Amino acid sequence: MPNPALLEHGSQFTKSVIALGDGIWGAIGFAASNVYMIEGGASVTIIDTTESTSAAENILAAFRAKTDKPVGRIIYTHSHRDHISGASVFAGGRDIPILASAAFQSDLIGVDEGAVAPNQALGRRTQAQFGIGLSPQERISLGCGPGDRPMEGLGAGYLEPTQRIASDGEIDLDGVAAQLIMAPGETRDHMVVWLPLQKILFSGDNWYHAFPNLYAIRGTPYRDFAAWADSLELLAGLGADILAPGHTMPVRGGDKVQDVLTSTRSAIDHVMKVTVEGMNQGLSMDDIAASISLPPELADRPWLQEFYGKVAWSARAFATGTLGWYDGNPTHLGTLSSKQRAEHLARLAGGAANLLKAAETTGDLQWRLELCDHLLALGEPAEEIKAQAMTELAEGEINATARNTYLWEARRLRGASGGGV
Ligand SMILES: [Zn+2]
Repeated sequence: MPNPALLEHGSQFTKSVIALGDGIWGAIGFAASNVYMIEGGASVTIIDTTESTSAAENILAAFRAKTDKPVGRIIYTHSHRDHISGASVFAGGRDIPILASAAFQSDLIGVDEGAVAPNQALGRRTQAQFGIGLSPQERISLGCGPGDRPMEGLGAGYLEPTQRIASDGEIDLDGVAAQLIMAPGETRDHMVVWLPLQKILFSGDNWYHAFPNLYAIRGTPYRDFAAWADSLELLAGLGADILAPGHTMPVRGGDKVQDVLTSTRSAIDHVMKVTVEGMNQGLSMDDIAASISLPPELADRPWLQEFYGKVAWSARAFATGTLGWYDGNPTHLGTLSSKQRAEHLARLAGGAANLLKAAETTGDLQWRLELCDHLLALGEPAEEIKAQAMTELAEGEINATARNTYLWEARRLRGASGGGV
């Protein structure tokens, strides 16, 4: 039985077209990310285009029930591929303006042939995080969107931006006054859209109903925590009545919007502060990660639950993003290989058979995983025990990316297809 809170979080992705104002619509739950439409005099503006051409086609069809005005322009809030991969569907073969931040840099744009880049690792971990190849029963959520959604044309409809916006400014969306505001957060190239008259803010991924993904376990460069926190304060200062995020349901009501933005800012500040305190005290990264949590006034906020990001992972990311991998303990200047360490432990334990027995009997699932890793380093058959432990951990997990990764890696360890790369 999956974690009930994670199941319940699925209500944030109920498939629907939602009215946010006069002629302003949001398509929620059709795909990993949301798409918004703003109706102007003779055309519509599309904000973000989701992850696949098939999802984009479904959304465009649903929008067509509201208005048949042609798409006049597309705005990308940022370069993550789940927001830019359905553009060709909305453009419909026409040459329309596509606006993005001047900092826009898509990971869809190919890495040079022969460049040294960990693409295989990134590919495998991305599949694991998003549970690609898992069954719909296993992949109940992405943490930021529904697990079960159309996958045809994934990443296929990307179009290059035609206008790169260098700084904040006003823009006329065919009769609808808007502002484009640079707000680095989940990515450096975030550009939010603000409608000052309607008081609607399209925040991209700088906010969603989950603890922010300050570190994505698929593997990401350091995300600037302080810049993200500052952007949340900037967005809160706009005084929006409706917050229309890149994932999960829109938030309505000025006070509520203020609350979700400022409390998320406080949560990021807290992670930075506690991690720095631990680093300054010379604590190990494990001890910081094992002990950090949100304070009570933040911990019970529904939108700060760890459906997507995780507090402990964020602490590790902040420490390595600021001072790098060395934690100040000289023990870590040297290295034992996994096999050497396992051999030492096996000798201490009186043989690998005793390690295996401990792995089979301990009730601490994390310790069981660690023992399995030592056994596997020794060439002992611990694959099934590790796979079983990951499956058990997955069931308790509130974090969808951890759940998907545990289940995907369990499949891979068992040699099953579907999880394979
Ligand atoms: Zn996103």
